[in-house]
Amino acid sequence: MKIETDLAESPLYLALNNLALEITSKLDAERRPWEPRNHMAHNWASEYHHPCKKYLVHCRLDWKDRHGIDIDGRWRVEEGIDKEWMVKKWLGNVGFEITQSQAYWNTDDAELRKYKALKISGKIDGMVATNGKLPGAFQSVREIPVEVKSTSPHFWDSTKTIEDIKKHSKFWISKIPSQLNTYLVFTHTPGGLLIMCTFGKRPRIIPMLFDADLWERDCIFVKSVNSYVRKKKYPPPMPFDPTICGMCDFDHICSPLKTTRLIELSAIDEIELELYLELKEGKKAFDDIHARLLGTKDKPGKYRGKEAMAGNIEIETTRFPKKKYEIPKEILAVLQKKYQVKDEEMVKTVIQRIKK
Ligand code: SF4
Repeated sequence: MKIETDLAESPLYLALNNLALEITSKLDAERRPWEPRNHMAHNWASEYHHPCKKYLVHCRLDWKDRHGIDIDGRWRVEEGIDKEWMVKKWLGNVGFEITQSQAYWNTDDAELRKYKALKISGKIDGMVATNGKLPGAFQSVREIPVEVKSTSPHFWDSTKTIEDIKKHSKFWISKIPSQLNTYLVFTHTPGGLLIMCTFGKRPRIIPMLFDADLWERDCIFVKSVNSYVRKKKYPPPMPFDPTICGMCDFDHICSPLKTTRLIELSAIDEIELELYLELKEGKKAFDDIHARLLGTKDKPGKYRGKEAMAGNIEIETTRFPKKKYEIPKEILAVLQKKYQVKDEEMVKTVIQRIKK
């Protein structure tokens, strides 16, 4: 401890610390400032599968009042964009060049007139050539949409298939298929590719077929949002959910009611809970084998009371005397009368996986 204090106070350490701070603040200042974008006219394709309708109405009516992105968020967005370009380069290097990259469209465009009432806009990550790889009826489809997304390594194992992603418990992941689904509709293609990336892993290229049910549900939701926007009114807030309302850019003007007793948990809490459940699941297997090998006094296992050795494993039994008190029933009855029975609140808390 003493050494650390001395180091922190040394002139060299202070100079290095100042240098580090100067570099960090210059790097931060280099990031593009965040400006709210006017989305009065359209719903974002990347957003509209959000679980809260009121949020989507705020996005349209209150775009100027949206919370800005903090500096970590700006770094994250920039990293995501860099990764996207990197993926496009990798694909181009192996003969799958991406076209129409970041092409902007909205349902007021002449060719999307049919969908005008939906009022959706978006930027497609790109189209990739099928190189004649689609079967018979789809031979004429020369290009399909591609969407590139980066995710935290924490969610890598839970995003293996498009169904995993559609049913994902985190809304920023479960809304991804709706965005790609929209591009499938607007480009008249039967399927596309979702490219998921994370730190230190090979990108995962996931096929997605057009999902008519998802499209229908999203259209109903979006039309309802449009109706509120037209009337300049808001739907009721969703029941307070810390993982959604806690990340909402409009919570300062929405003030959602806390109608649940849920407490807020951080990403670190979630990692700790995952560890707890992994150990708990392991413990069940341990308890089973323990019962089989050692068991209890009343139900002994195969090695209880035995001595043996196998490799570097030893089975050892020790025996020692233990006093056992038996209280006669009549004395027990006197004791129970003498000492009052108190009511006390019992609290039982379990941590377990949500059954889907
Ligand atoms: S704070 Fe919650 S209820 Fe209000 S708009 Fe945001 S997500 Fe919806």
